Amino acid sequence: MILIVGGGVIGLSIAWKLIEIGKKVLILDKNKLGKEASWAAAGMLAGRMESEPGEEKLFPLLAKGQLAWPKFAYELENISGKKVEYKKDGTIMLACDFDENNKLKSTFSFFKKNKINMEWLNGEEIRVKEPYVSTKVLSGIFSKKDHQVNSRFVLDALLTVIKRNKDKCFIEENTEVKEIISNKNQVIAVKTNKKVIKVKKIIICAGAWTNKIKNISKEKIPIRPVKGQMICLKMNKNQPLIKHVLWRNNIYLVPRNNFDLIVGSTVEEMGYDKDLTAGGIFHLLRIAREMVPAIEELPIIDSWTGLRPTTIDDAPIIGPSKYLKGLIFATGHHRNGILLAPITSDAIKNYFLSGKIGKEFVNFQPDRFLFN
Ligand code: FAD
Repeated sequence: MILIVGGGVIGLSIAWKLIEIGKKVLILDKNKLGKEASWAAAGMLAGRMESEPGEEKLFPLLAKGQLAWPKFAYELENISGKKVEYKKDGTIMLACDFDENNKLKSTFSFFKKNKINMEWLNGEEIRVKEPYVSTKVLSGIFSKKDHQVNSRFVLDALLTVIKRNKDKCFIEENTEVKEIISNKNQVIAVKTNKKVIKVKKIIICAGAWTNKIKNISKEKIPIRPVKGQMICLKMNKNQPLIKHVLWRNNIYLVPRNNFDLIVGSTVEEMGYDKDLTAGGIFHLLRIAREMVPAIEELPIIDSWTGLRPTTIDDAPIIGPSKYLKGLIFATGHHRNGILLAPITSDAIKNYFLSGKIGKEFVNFQPDRFLFN
């Protein structure tokens, strides 16, 4: 039996892949499955637009993550019988004034230098694609290859698959892993809020709470929560305002097929605080309204916050502990956990098949922080 700690998109995808190769898994979650960061996500698969200076070692991983999605979505829809709404309309990053235009030009050069091909559009060209975009918008960068998925549909599909496999997948909700127990550098059990469970293989998929588990490992696992606030507006189905994902100043508008329009997200260092604040919502709406003024008329139908699991280098931690046999990490996906779920779950599956973690994760091992 393999123990998976945490049932977000990472833990659930891994459970699916391990069941497929005949393994038995037990998923423990301190709350309900799939109700934390993965529930909060916007579902952008925007590895290209997300590429930032200083994070160059992440680019190949983000690119691979993006390439893996069509197959993952296809297989998940087929096996679950549920739609995940994988959409390929693309993403446009906008500039609303001259300063933003200059900044966007340097972002465009940065993408070019790193062989991330995008298309430069002027304001008129943007309004041909998106007629409701403000006349103040001067320019934009269009990425045809930055896609999106409905992340809540993905969670629902994953839950459908694993719950169907009752003989291979066991689930205990409201069960928090408090401590890892080892003997002679081998994992032997976990202590939860309810009982001790004997187990020799543990995969840590506990997202922003990873560090709260006692005796997690001698490796430093520098994960912290980074809060994001979101709101959801409802577009008129006879007159949907936008088709593409639109970005500006790190705020995005994500249109879904049911005419929901997600507006996200703040990036806040607030520890485990999950309050929705007036300032946060005001910030989202101000930036969004400058992109698409007509959002003013739309009803707000929902709002929420989530905690991104973020490491000091913004990259995930994937692979076995070098100090504690039987302990494996798949955590710290920061703002790209939906995008990276397919290749993370494949990597862990392959680890169980071959005993090795794939080359693409060589820079993302748990012991890399020891030297920082
Ligand atoms: P989570 O979904 O947080 O799951 C962790 C699970 O572990 C939880 O269910 C929790 O209850 C459980 N747990 C924790 N500790 C314990 C314990 N000790 N014992 C038992 N269970 C435990 N990514 C994208 O790719 N695209 C996006 O558009 C995007 N938008 C985002 C928007 C927001 C506002 C936020 C907050 C994140 C966004 N992300 C996005 C990032 C993405 O959501 C995360 O990287 C991803 O969900 C991480 O998945 P996870 O399974 O590791 O964590």
